[in-house]
Amino acid sequence: MVPFNRPFLTGKEFRYIAEAHAKGQLAGNGSFTKQCQDWLEQRTGCRQSLLTHSCTGALEMAAILADIRPGDEVIMPSYSFVSTANAFVLRGGIPVFVDIRPDTLNLDETRIEAAITPRTRAIVPVHYGGVACEMDAIMAIAESHRLPVIEDAAHGIMASYQGRPLGAIGHLGTLSFHETKNIMSGQGGALLINDPTLTERAEIIREKGTDRSRFFRGQVDKYSWVDIGSSYLPGELTAAFLWAQMEQADAITARRLALWECYHAAFDHLERTGRARRPIIPAGCGHNAHLYYLLLRDRDDRTAFIAAMKEAGVRCVFHYVPLHTAPYGRQVGRAHGELPVTCNLADRLVRLPLWLGLEEHQQRAIDTLLHIIGRT
Ligand SMILES: *Cc1c(COP(=O)(O)O)cnc(C)c1O
Repeated sequence: MVPFNRPFLTGKEFRYIAEAHAKGQLAGNGSFTKQCQDWLEQRTGCRQSLLTHSCTGALEMAAILADIRPGDEVIMPSYSFVSTANAFVLRGGIPVFVDIRPDTLNLDETRIEAAITPRTRAIVPVHYGGVACEMDAIMAIAESHRLPVIEDAAHGIMASYQGRPLGAIGHLGTLSFHETKNIMSGQGGALLINDPTLTERAEIIREKGTDRSRFFRGQVDKYSWVDIGSSYLPGELTAAFLWAQMEQADAITARRLALWECYHAAFDHLERTGRARRPIIPAGCGHNAHLYYLLLRDRDDRTAFIAAMKEAGVRCVFHYVPLHTAPYGRQVGRAHGELPVTCNLADRLVRLPLWLGLEEHQQRAIDTLLHIIGRT
C-alpha cells in the first residue's frame, strides 16, 4: 500500500528533544523556540516570528491583532481549510468568500475589489499548494482601502513570490508545521509579523494576555494581565523536534520538488490528450512542492478514480469542500457571487501521495494512475 502521507524524520528530532529536556525548560520559549524563530526571521525576512502550537493558533492571533469585531467582514477564498475562516468567526467576523483563479486555485485578485464594503476589515489570501497568490495586486488593493493583509501561508514554507518568501509579504503571515506539511513537528505553526506596530501586542497575546516576555527581558519588574490572549506558545519539545526539520529545510524541499517534477513529466501526455489538467505555476512563483494534484473531468470521475487507485494500493485524497457550501459556512459566511470556479474545481481535484520516501514507490503510483486513467 502506498499511503497518502508518511511524516518524514531527519533523524535528529529525538536527540534534540533529549537536549531540550536536559536544559530543563520544557514549557516553551526556550533555546529551541528561539533558534526556530531566528531561522524563520533570517529565511523570510519578516520583522518578528513567533512559534505557535498550530497555524490555526497563528490565524487566531492574527484575527486578534487585526482587531476583528462582531460584524466585520474578512475577504478570503472559499477553497481553503476551515481554520482560515474560523479564526475570524471566533471574533464575530463574517467571512466573505471570493472566487479563485482557475490556474492556481488562489484567491482571484481581480474579484477582491468588488467584494469590499465599508465593513471590510482584512484580506486573507491563501497560497494554495505553496504557489503564491498575485501579491503585488493584492497589496495594492489593500493599501488603497487601508486594509491589512494576512497571508495564510500554511502551505508556503520555503516558497516565494517574485523572490519574496511567502508569509513575509502581507502585514501578517501564518505557517503550519502540521505533520502533513513540508516541515513539520506533528502539530505546530508560526506567526510572521511584518508590520512593526504589531510586534509587542503579538507577544502579549501569545503569552495569555500578559507582558511576560517583557518581564523576562527585564523591561518591566513584574508581569501582569494587560490584554486578551490565550496559550498559543508550543512546548519546547515541539520546538526541538521542529529545529531538526528546519536544519534540513533545503534538502527536504529539493527532494519534494524532484518528486513533484517526476509526476509532472509523467502526466504531460494526460494533459495534452485532455484527460487531466496538471498544476500551473505562474512566472515569479517559486513553489515548494507542497502538494501534487490533478484536475479530472468531474466529481463522478474523481470518485471512481480514488476508488480504483485505493483498490490498486495507492491512496489519493481530495479536499477542500468549499467553505461557503459547508453547513456552518452557510450560516456565518457570505459568498460574493456564485463562485463558479471554486465549485467546479473543488469537485474535480485529486491529490496524489507526496512524501519523502515515496521515491521507491512513485513509479508504481504513476503506472497505476496511467493505467486507471487510460482505460476511462
Ligand atoms: C493545514 C492548514 C491550516 C491549519 O494548520 P494547522 O497547523 O493544522 O492548524 C490552515 N490553513 C490551511 C490553508 C491549511 O492547509
